[in-house]
Amino acid sequence: MGGATSCLKDAFGRSITYLRLSVTDRCNLRCFYCMPQADFNWMPPEEILRFEEIVQLTRVLAGLGVGKIRFTGGEPLVRKDIVKLISDVNQLEGVHETCITTNGVLLEDLAGELYHAGLRHLNISLDTLRPERFSEITGRDFFHRVWSGIEECISLGFSPIKINFVMMKGKNDDEIVDFARLSLRYPVDVRFIEFMPIGKHSKWGKNHFLSSDDAKGMIEKAVGILEPVSRGKEAGPAEMFTLPGGQGKIGFISPLSHRFCSKCNRIRVTADGRLRLCLFSDVEIDLRQVLRKGVSDSELSHFFTETVLKKPARYLKNKQDVPSCDRQMSSIGG
Ligand code: SAM
Ligand code: SF4
Ligand code: SF4
Repeated sequence: MGGATSCLKDAFGRSITYLRLSVTDRCNLRCFYCMPQADFNWMPPEEILRFEEIVQLTRVLAGLGVGKIRFTGGEPLVRKDIVKLISDVNQLEGVHETCITTNGVLLEDLAGELYHAGLRHLNISLDTLRPERFSEITGRDFFHRVWSGIEECISLGFSPIKINFVMMKGKNDDEIVDFARLSLRYPVDVRFIEFMPIGKHSKWGKNHFLSSDDAKGMIEKAVGILEPVSRGKEAGPAEMFTLPGGQGKIGFISPLSHRFCSKCNRIRVTADGRLRLCLFSDVEIDLRQVLRKGVSDSELSHFFTETVLKKPARYLKNKQDVPSCDRQMSSIGG
């Protein structure tokens, strides 16, 4: 493939520049809102995309202008070849940003290798600073490991480091202000994410929902005025702010209260190789089958160019409906 010469556009003129790639459905945590707590099976290994398949699909997408690749899961760091995969994808022509979304449990062990592999952008999911509550939410007693991992990444110089906090009324909303203050003390961006109803067995309920506007109000009352940060061309769905004296920024991601479909630039590939053109649409395209037929790069490029035209303008429900989907978040990747 040549460089990022052409551009992947959907039927509504949106340029697709960002791939969220789930590399495994496995996870070393069991967050109650993301994974079924019992009676579930991991995907059989032969169904998971192989190393070479991932490299081919990212190479072809990068050639079409998809220059930002996020590795997610399940927990991406439990995949055994993840460091080499990131390193190889990082070196592909047209890839200008690789990022990872991780629960942080394995960062203590892997941060150095990841840095060496060229990774700089880290999103770390953390919904509480209280060790006991961490165990309640995630089913595992790993808070201190995650926190040491974050400290290790700060000292190694990863940047940006974004801490993602899912807001759940009655579960962790009493920590919103504490999390906002992390951006004063550390060079990290803290992003507040609205809880979404994802997965057939979702624990979402209106009583657990807290909007970004509610959180902004709580932070401004306790800490100070949130100063908006101007949005660059490549800005994602987060609305960004700073607090007076902040080292990092504060962001709000509001899939439910403020919809950002008209600027959507992303596609997703699940661990078992299904292409999802919209988070909330359960229409999936079997990319793995295409890859396993032994397609050439130019055939695959043609496949993406055609398929992306099926990306919906927005999730297909009525505007007033709460969006949802059947597949669980741990196999989509967020
Ligand atoms: N295991 C990694 C992690 O936790 O960062 C990556 C995969 S996880 C599915 C990606 C992100 O999705 C996490 O930040 C998690 O908090 C978020 N997430 C999972 N279920 C969610 C839900 N129902 N609503 C909002 N965010 C959710
Ligand atoms: Fe695992 Fe991430 Fe889901 Fe938690 S949110 S269960 S860490 S995949
Ligand atoms: Fe994009 Fe679908 Fe999310 Fe809208 S709901 S921003 S179209 S992925």
